[in-house]
Amino acid sequence: MTVIGFIGLGVMGRPMAANLVNAGHDVRGYARSESARAGLADLGITAVDSVAAAVAGAELVLTMLPDSPDVEAVVLGDDGVLASIEPGAGYIDMSTITPESARLVADRLREKGHAVLDAPVSGGEAGAQEGTLSIMVGGNAADLDRWRNVLSAMGGTIVHVGDSGSGQVVKAANQLMVAGHLQMLAEAIVFLEAQKTDVGTALSVIAKGLGGSTVIDRKVNGVLAENFRPGFRIELHHKDLGIVRDAARKTGTALPVTALISQFVQSLVTRGDGGLDHSALVTLAREANVGARA
Ligand code: NAD
Repeated sequence: MTVIGFIGLGVMGRPMAANLVNAGHDVRGYARSESARAGLADLGITAVDSVAAAVAGAELVLTMLPDSPDVEAVVLGDDGVLASIEPGAGYIDMSTITPESARLVADRLREKGHAVLDAPVSGGEAGAQEGTLSIMVGGNAADLDRWRNVLSAMGGTIVHVGDSGSGQVVKAANQLMVAGHLQMLAEAIVFLEAQKTDVGTALSVIAKGLGGSTVIDRKVNGVLAENFRPGFRIELHHKDLGIVRDAARKTGTALPVTALISQFVQSLVTRGDGGLDHSALVTLAREANVGARA
């Protein structure tokens, strides 16, 4: 049993923290928004009202926050993790942030002798609820060995991928692939519709062949029902594609198809759809094909 301070209890953090409780850990949870703090007791999570209160007495601090500025503020800000963390306690950030931010917070905490991992996840809300997330871990392998049993309450696949920041690099690659799968699913759907083919039936067989993907398995029902409740908000995917763009630019890596799909994602954010699930990419494909017919 590990005493865990968990900060960030949104779509992902809340079920992840609940799975930690179910695995026998003692979890104190904090999130900035009051709505995220509501109902925690029903899940066995002790609700606290500040970062410092979540961190006090914790052997391990976990964060699951939206973006790099959030993680930097929560860790390095006044009354943040760095100021309050117990001697010898560990810190694992599971948010998707830039590799630079991951290295920055790792360096600052390591100066004080803390073990730090960046451990972003893939698998979406369903994976968080099921405790089957893929977790890509950067930092010292020995630190992962120490905390692996905690991570295994949340993830089915936990892989050490390199030094600090490497987990975020791998997550960025994951995000460009997810965007690609979603866009191609959208294009397959408008193609099939125009051919007057039953889309659900078609995708049920495609899903089992080489064209299959976790994106189809997880997203197709919502897409076909035009239910774009997030899930994974488009604005978060927009953030992730910015991380990909900036990292690629630093090494001079050309990613032309990623750049194109990033523009579709930008377009959804610009027209005010950033709060929808990223599977809403299909709406752009539909609009581009009004009038298409067999
Ligand atoms: P979310 O917006 O639903 O939840 C974020 C939580 O952080 C909320 O509880 C919010 O109150 C809290 N928060 C924000 N700023 C804070 C601050 N300064 N101090 C304390 N709490 C703060 O986001 P999410 O969908 O759970 O995503 C979290 C992270 O996980 C993001 O980096 C996202 O890119 C990544 N991610 C999301 C999914 C998904 O399917 N939703 C999948 C994989 C990875």
